[in-house]
Amino acid sequence: MSSLFPVLAGSPDDRPALCFGDRSLSRAQLAAAAGAVAERVAGSGRVAVWATPSLETAVAVVGTLLAGAAAVPLNPKSGGKELAHILGDSAPALLLAAPGDELPDTVRGLTRVDVDVRATGAVPEQTADDLDPALVVYTSGTTGPPKGAVLPRRAVATTLDAIADAWAWTGDDVLVHGLPLFHVHGLVLGVLGPLRRGGSVRHLGRFTTEGVTRELGDGATMLFGVPTMYHRIAEALPGDPALAKALAGARLLVSGSAALPVHDHERIATATGRRVIERYGMTETLMNTSVRADGEARAGTVGVPLPGVELRLVEEDGSEITAYDGESVGEIQVRGPNLFTAYLNRPDATEAAFTADGFFRTGDMAVRDADGYVRIVGRKATDLIKSGGYKIGAGEIENALLEHPGVREAAVTGEPDADLGERIVAWIVPADPEAPPSVEELADHVAARLAPHKRPRVVHHLTALPRNDMGKIMKRSLPRS
Ligand code: ATP
Ligand code: MG
Repeated sequence: MSSLFPVLAGSPDDRPALCFGDRSLSRAQLAAAAGAVAERVAGSGRVAVWATPSLETAVAVVGTLLAGAAAVPLNPKSGGKELAHILGDSAPALLLAAPGDELPDTVRGLTRVDVDVRATGAVPEQTADDLDPALVVYTSGTTGPPKGAVLPRRAVATTLDAIADAWAWTGDDVLVHGLPLFHVHGLVLGVLGPLRRGGSVRHLGRFTTEGVTRELGDGATMLFGVPTMYHRIAEALPGDPALAKALAGARLLVSGSAALPVHDHERIATATGRRVIERYGMTETLMNTSVRADGEARAGTVGVPLPGVELRLVEEDGSEITAYDGESVGEIQVRGPNLFTAYLNRPDATEAAFTADGFFRTGDMAVRDADGYVRIVGRKATDLIKSGGYKIGAGEIENALLEHPGVREAAVTGEPDADLGERIVAWIVPADPEAPPSVEELADHVAARLAPHKRPRVVHHLTALPRNDMGKIMKRSLPRS
């Protein structure tokens, strides 16, 4: 296998590689520090990484991969129960952390090795095979307890190269990053991506619109974010011309991890003249589709399959949908070198996840437009409502609700109904809690935009929607209606 990070091999130069706040490492410094980690973890199998947003986390993961071992990134904000589950499941040989990290009791039993970003070691020759595990990443736990996806080195390399092709991503790009480092988005795309390309990354620590303005104004070219970040940008834009100018000057604005509401996409486009590009991926598959940098970014679409990814839409009876009509809804199934090899310790779940011909069942439902663009309508488990003989995706109703000036946040679910099978329930955070829009007003608003059978029958008011650390709406945590 060739190196995952060609710029760190040989004699790397002094160009910038990583920057977290006022701490940074050049390529040469990163190679030396990661080389020292590689010497320490060589032969360890699986290595846990206390994944704070820091230089140490990036060095720990890169060093582990250089050693041919597999990194298991841990969310430092996980509760004790989740952490205990992940540690019990992944059984790491040791734990890499920054010298100052305070660790909870749950991880005390592990051998702790502190990462020194000024240490010097040699980058080892690559001996690992393509199918050796590079990472074990736990899914977000949106629909059930997190599962550990074993990602081979091949998946990391091919997904980063496919995305580079789609986004014309080069070593000249400088990424602005404000995401956590224990999921695919922030770690694989946001840290390993720039290092594989030979570009650099500037991490904001904590996402702020001021940080985005500063970094894009200071030579950064790309921004990766989740929809809650673009929502904050959309809200800030009317009163922040400097932010609008900075975004207008960026080469690429990318959103993923959950659906970007159409309302936010349009508001950003109007204020900046720039359209956010959406891509669709999963822990298990890394990246599947994206709008291409030279393609048309239409609100509500996640673009086309990436090079090397086979994608099909499948009906409940297993037949493939061949129509590109923007209407026929099927489950997205994918096959390609970007896929994980297994859920750790879960042969049952692994087997259930694949079809006989090797496609992974994503559990996401979508339609395809005439030009092949994929539009996700929601998750099979939580977002597909069967009402009055129709199959209705929660996403389009959420988008319609968000266009109502009285609605700040919206989630839509189905609940049993004697007449309809299921009835549509809207959970909203009203813009003005003193004067929330009535159920009749919202039902008329949705019926006028979509169709009468898509109107919500019940509306609940909340002060905030339950979201995880990536800003994803946790529908299973909504109170029971
Ligand atoms: P779990 O599998 O534990 O329930 P999860 O599916 O949220 O959690 P991830 O692997 O982090 O865990 O997220 C992948 C999911 O995120 C996809 O299956 C899809 O539902 C959603 N997703 C990712 N990108 C997009 C996007 N651009 N538009 C809509 N949905 C997206
Ligand atoms: Mg999932």
